Amino acid sequence: MTTPLGRRLAARIAAEGPIGLDAYMAACLFDPEHGYYTTAPVFGGAGDFITAPEISQMFGELIGLSLGQAWRDQGAPGRIALAELGPGRGVLMADLWRAAGKVAGFRDAADLWLLEASPRLAAIQAERLAAAAPRFLADAAALPEAPLYLVANEFFDALPIRQFLRTPEGWAETVVGLGPEGALRPGRVPVAAGLPRAIAARTRATPPGTILEHCAAAPAIIAEIAGRIARHGGAALIIDYGGWDGAGDTLQALARHRPADPFAAPGTADLTAHVDFAPLAAAARAAGAEASGPVAQGRFLERLGIGLRAEVLARGLTGAALAAHRAATARLTGAEEMGTLFKVLAIHPRGAPPPPGLAPEDTAEDGPPA
Ligand code: SAH
Repeated sequence: MTTPLGRRLAARIAAEGPIGLDAYMAACLFDPEHGYYTTAPVFGGAGDFITAPEISQMFGELIGLSLGQAWRDQGAPGRIALAELGPGRGVLMADLWRAAGKVAGFRDAADLWLLEASPRLAAIQAERLAAAAPRFLADAAALPEAPLYLVANEFFDALPIRQFLRTPEGWAETVVGLGPEGALRPGRVPVAAGLPRAIAARTRATPPGTILEHCAAAPAIIAEIAGRIARHGGAALIIDYGGWDGAGDTLQALARHRPADPFAAPGTADLTAHVDFAPLAAAARAAGAEASGPVAQGRFLERLGIGLRAEVLARGLTGAALAAHRAATARLTGAEEMGTLFKVLAIHPRGAPPPPGLAPEDTAEDGPPA
């Protein structure tokens, strides 16, 4: 094996047998000693991938204005929780917080809560956001009982998944076992019992060859968020790479901005799976809230006025800086770039309009309009 974590996982598999993709992802991303998020530099041009807030300050600013406006539209409640799941280097929240300063009273009403599994990233967030005095959540269940205004960008795609293949004989699960010379290798084992209910209950046709993925953690986290929004008001924006009721193998590894083999060098690449928004919307509705969208990120940002904001910022720029700013705007909104691959799901109280950036026509019980 090529990495210390790989050697450790190989020893565990040799002793105990193959492990599920969920256990494998959790180890690769968050092993305390060798996990990707616990050790690697990860973000930005020098890292392995770049996220929307790292591309342009406009991303966090517009999200701040959307949540700030939702707060005003709901009567500007006092003592609210402003929260982010998986804040990375804290860039999104720093931009959001600055822009939210333009919404009179919002920052004074807000207590800032962050959910972060990586102690190294939590330290970076605490430093960057010191002026907002953030507090850290042990898990989503620890969110305060208060009106909740929340954002999560590229958080749900890092949650461990299980993966199931329909075979002529029944369902099989993808597991990580050992190949020749002790290398980690994906394989499949029949599922005797214990197929997750969400998979068993899928009504869409599943002919042999169909692969379905299941993220057990996501609906549970959504239920915590949506429950608070249903009881106290608020709004959540969930932004990620994904689709609706999808099928197929979406596990992917990214190292140095390039696709990598997810099993070759555990702990050294980012591992993600596409987010299926259908179970998230269902979990929000089951918890008593409304879900709107998902809508394409490009459309969401355009509705929030990214064109105008981009022009204002462009006025102060020339030469290479201006070109970089134009490229960043196109990257966030362009159809061939992040504009349609990334989607935004909103959670808001029943009977209240969705937060700005989403429109009532984005909403449908059985999924977003095509
Ligand atoms: N939102 C940031 C970072 C995205 S990377 C951005 O857009 O730039 C994913 C982030 O989620 C990282 O901060 C990672 O450490 C965190 N994360 C992933 N899974 C988590 C979990 N189960 N609990 C808490 N934080 C998690």
